[in-house]
Amino acid sequence: MEKLSNPRKTIEIIQKYKFVFQKKFGQNFLIDAHVLDKIIAAAEITKEDFVLEVGPGIGTMTQYLAESAGKVVAVEIDKALLPILEETLEEYENADVIHADVLKLDIGKLVREQNGGRPIKVVANLPYYITTPIIMGLFESHVPIESITVMVQKEVALRMQAQPGTKDYGALSLAVQYYAEPYLAANVPPNCFMPRPNVGSAVIRLIRHEEPRVSVKDEALMFRIIRASFNQRRKTLQNGLNNSPEISTSKEQIAEAIAALGLPPGVRGEALTLEQFAALADKICG
Ligand code: SAM
Repeated sequence: MEKLSNPRKTIEIIQKYKFVFQKKFGQNFLIDAHVLDKIIAAAEITKEDFVLEVGPGIGTMTQYLAESAGKVVAVEIDKALLPILEETLEEYENADVIHADVLKLDIGKLVREQNGGRPIKVVANLPYYITTPIIMGLFESHVPIESITVMVQKEVALRMQAQPGTKDYGALSLAVQYYAEPYLAANVPPNCFMPRPNVGSAVIRLIRHEEPRVSVKDEALMFRIIRASFNQRRKTLQNGLNNSPEISTSKEQIAEAIAALGLPPGVRGEALTLEQFAALADKICG
């Protein structure tokens, strides 16, 4: 069968099944072979790999993944795509489709049952409306994952890899970089998709650290501090923490902890590294 990366083939399949694109599911299908080659190369897929694909759509990327990987499991929420995937993936015996909402699926169980608990690679052209819950859910659930290579909104890719003191730096940069090392693999313009999204896209690769980048006594407290410091970007770190309903520490203790780290009282959250947020959390929790 001719590959779906050929736009003519995608149109033919969509017409044959009278498929109607669902905006609510973030459906923008890839129609560019060059971009698909780049994603597969960036993800460094080999025949040894077990790949989890989130949202196969009509199976465009799944076809490429199945050719390079040992096994592909693709999780799709839209029931209307299931008969299409049966046809487009017919020739690929190592590709399975699961009909589920990826946010509700027990991925840890899937990896235990189907890959003996060994680390998997996640590759996807993500539905943009749930990019953060998907990625953070995968990291926080401690599913064994080697890397995540995904198409996301360009602006989100920039935030994930942003460094302290830059305008894109924030809670997402710190959360992602706590678990993984991000690399921007490609910028992808809207005309590589059908229908065209109204934002630019980028492929980002997140290579999971063996251990989180910093060690901290109370991980949840550190993330509450991070959220509180970026909630009000223009405020100082001290005011951000004092005003947050998530932080119960007294004003005096907060001021002391900031001073103990050698930071000026007027410092803003955006200036702190992950290591400094961890040290601050350790000081605050005593
Ligand atoms: N992989 C295909 C491609 O590259 O052409 C489609 C990518 S499209 C951007 C996102 C896909 O994710 C759609 O097929 C959509 O139906 C699916 N999707 C959306 N929300 C989902 C969810 N919660 N769980 C699983 N799949 C979802």
